[in-house]
Amino acid sequence: MAVTEADVRSALDGVTLPDGESLAASGRVSKITINDGRVICIVAVDASESRALEPARVAAEAAIARLPGVDRALIGLKPNVTPGAPRSGAAPASPRAAVKGRATTAPMALTGVKHIVAVSSGKGGVGKSTVSCNLALGFAAQGLKVGILDADIYGPSQPKLFGLSGKPRQIDAQTMEPMEAFGIKVMSIGFLVEEDLAMIWRGPMVISAITQMLRNVAWGHLDVLVVDFPPGTGDIQLSMAQQTPLSGAVVVSTPQDIALIDARRGIAMLEKVNVPLLGIVENMSSFCCPTCNHVSMIFGHGGARAEAEQLGVPFLGEVPLDMRIRETSDSGAPLVATAPDSHHAQAFIGIAGQVWAALMSGGVVRPAPRIVIE
Ligand code: ADP
Repeated sequence: MAVTEADVRSALDGVTLPDGESLAASGRVSKITINDGRVICIVAVDASESRALEPARVAAEAAIARLPGVDRALIGLKPNVTPGAPRSGAAPASPRAAVKGRATTAPMALTGVKHIVAVSSGKGGVGKSTVSCNLALGFAAQGLKVGILDADIYGPSQPKLFGLSGKPRQIDAQTMEPMEAFGIKVMSIGFLVEEDLAMIWRGPMVISAITQMLRNVAWGHLDVLVVDFPPGTGDIQLSMAQQTPLSGAVVVSTPQDIALIDARRGIAMLEKVNVPLLGIVENMSSFCCPTCNHVSMIFGHGGARAEAEQLGVPFLGEVPLDMRIRETSDSGAPLVATAPDSHHAQAFIGIAGQVWAALMSGGVVRPAPRIVIE
C-alpha cells in the first residue's frame, strides 16, 4: 500500500525535539513530498539550531523509513527564511542582480536539466572532485537522473574518478554525447584535449570551453547536473558562477583554519553573484587508523561545522580521511557506486539527500544577519 502524508505525519508524531515537543506538532514540517516510496520532508529551523536538531532529524528519517512502502526517507533542515528573500547587501530585484561591471541578465536555463549544482572550494586539494563524484553518485542512489560536468579545467579528475577514457561520440557538428559510468553522464575537458593544452588557456578560452561542455552536450533529461568547479575564487570562477544557471552551490573545505579562510572567500564569491549556498561539507574530517582504530584529527575537526553555524548556512556533513576513499577514487571505482553500504558511502549519500531536499524546498539562502542596536 502506498504511503500517505498522514502516515508520515503520524510517524513524525513519535519524534521528540530537544524541548520535548513532538516534531509533527511543532509546526516545523513545512513540506512533505512522496514519490514512489521516497519521502522527502522539509523541516524549518533557525540556523543556530541545526546542530541541536540533528538527532531529531536522524530519528525522523528512521521513523519514516520504518513505514511500510517507504524505500528511502530524507529530512532536510532548512533555515527559516523565505527562499529568494533578499540578503544583506544583495539587490532585492532579480535573483541574480547586477555585479558591478558584469552582465545583469540571468543565464539561460539548460533544457531538460532541472537543477545544476556547483561544487566549489576556495583552494585545490581539499577533495572537491572526490566529493563531486560521490555526491553525483549519491543523487543517483536516491533514484535521480544525474550528470556531472568536470569544469576543473586545469586539473580534470572526473575521467579518473569514474574510470573513463576515450573520446565522447560526436552526434552532429554541434553536439557531443556524454560518456557514462555507473549510470552517471560525464563530460570533462580531460576527454577532449591534452592536459598541457588546457593549462595554457586564458580566461575567455576557459569560459568558452566550459560553456560548450555545458550547452553542446546531449545531457537529455536530468534531475541534477553536478558541476565540479575549478578551485579558487578568481575571475574565471566568478564568471562561471554568473554564466551558469545554478540552482545552488556546495562548498567543500577541510577543517583547518587556512582552508576555511579560502572557503570563506568561496562563499563570499557565491554571494557576490547571488548563487544560493546549499551548504558546507567538511572533508578529511578525521582519520581512523586501519591497524589500531585510533581516531586522529589530522587537520583538526569541526571547523567547517562551526563556520557553517556562524555563517548561518546548512552544514551538510563530514567525510573522514580514509585510505579507501583515496584508493577507490584513484582506481575509478568510487565508493558510493562500489560499496554503497559502507560507512563512508553512506556519508556521501546523506549529504546528497540533504542537498536534494534543499533543492526541493526551493533552494536555501543565507538568512540576513540580525542587526542589534544596543
Ligand atoms: P580537489 O578536487 O579539491 O583538488 P581531489 O578530490 O582531487 O581534490 O582530492 C585530492 C586527493 O585527495 C586525491 O588523491 C583524493 O583521492 C584524495 N582525497 C580526497 N578526499 C579524501 C578523503 N576523504 N580521504 C582520503 N583521500 C581523499
